[in-house]
Amino acid sequence: MRFERAAFFSLPFKGEGLRKTNLSVKRRATQHYTNLPQWGACRTRDTLKLFYADHFVLPLPEGHRFPMVKYARLRARLLASALFHPDDFVVPDAATDEAILRAHDAAYLSRVAEGSLDAAEIRRIGFPWSPGMVERSRRSAGATLAACRAALTEGCGVNLAGGTHHAHRDFGSGFCVFNDAAIAALAMRAEGRARRIAIIDCDVHQGDGTAAILRDKPDIFTCSLHGAKNFPFRKQTSDLDVELADGTGDEDYLKALELALEQVFTRAAPDLVIYLAGADPYSGDRLGRLDLSIEGLARRDLTVLSTCRAHGSAVAVAMAGGYASDIDDTVSIHVATVLTAARVFADNGNRDAPARLTTESR
Ligand SMILES: [Zn+2]
Repeated sequence: MRFERAAFFSLPFKGEGLRKTNLSVKRRATQHYTNLPQWGACRTRDTLKLFYADHFVLPLPEGHRFPMVKYARLRARLLASALFHPDDFVVPDAATDEAILRAHDAAYLSRVAEGSLDAAEIRRIGFPWSPGMVERSRRSAGATLAACRAALTEGCGVNLAGGTHHAHRDFGSGFCVFNDAAIAALAMRAEGRARRIAIIDCDVHQGDGTAAILRDKPDIFTCSLHGAKNFPFRKQTSDLDVELADGTGDEDYLKALELALEQVFTRAAPDLVIYLAGADPYSGDRLGRLDLSIEGLARRDLTVLSTCRAHGSAVAVAMAGGYASDIDDTVSIHVATVLTAARVFADNGNRDAPARLTTESR
């Protein structure tokens, strides 16, 4: 049941009227793909590059509700998993002005860089301004850029943070300063590394900034699965929006996801997918309003990543949100995402990855 990618290259996908998920689309079971497309080095690699910036500290006041510590704990857990070598963990370059300005307004970048955001802009971002905040934001965007470049040569790359999808062209919002996925997608197009890109955003909050920034980019497809009644309350229009009711559980979520993935790969036929693997659809998330289990989220990751692989799309993974009452639940969900990526994209030398995954993700 091979998917013939060439047949889809000429399909336009912006403004076609298929804006919302279409539940009548015939299901095509992803597990039935048997002839995997091939891309160069991916077939021989045995691990992933993991880009991190958690040591660039964004200072927060005591009691701030953003769980900044999750990033360092994620890296520590992955190091301890023994699946990765310390050399797999890479500090990315900061995103340059040139890269940021493909997605953001020059005046906004200047206000961020110089610390001249007004009080309302800072409140909307949710972080106090500091030089550390600027550097961290540039590095986080740089990590998604680096993950995309790694993905396009090696099949998959991971940013151990990122997914700052509420950042718009001229303002930040919801703990997001620069929109890493938009910056990275536009860079991959500008550098001629990818022809068609899809952003698959499974954070529980809509990727509103991403949708707005990329609205008129015909080669970049935006897909968001999110809580209908959750932040942001004024939604933007992605190429594909899947709105989920409060309390949606594993089975209904996974059904909606499979239908969405069908549309993404039929309409966009991407060379590169940027996957926002938010941990906040979890039932124990303080901001999520959905009811997915940790196992359900691992199935979500496996579904997205194995579908990308089956279609021959490279994948850059970003962690995006996660606000569980127990921060270690959020970390466990992110750990499982990374291990699933290793499992799906490793061909040689990682035959024991599934067993490690099962152990580590409990
Ligand atoms: Zn979120």
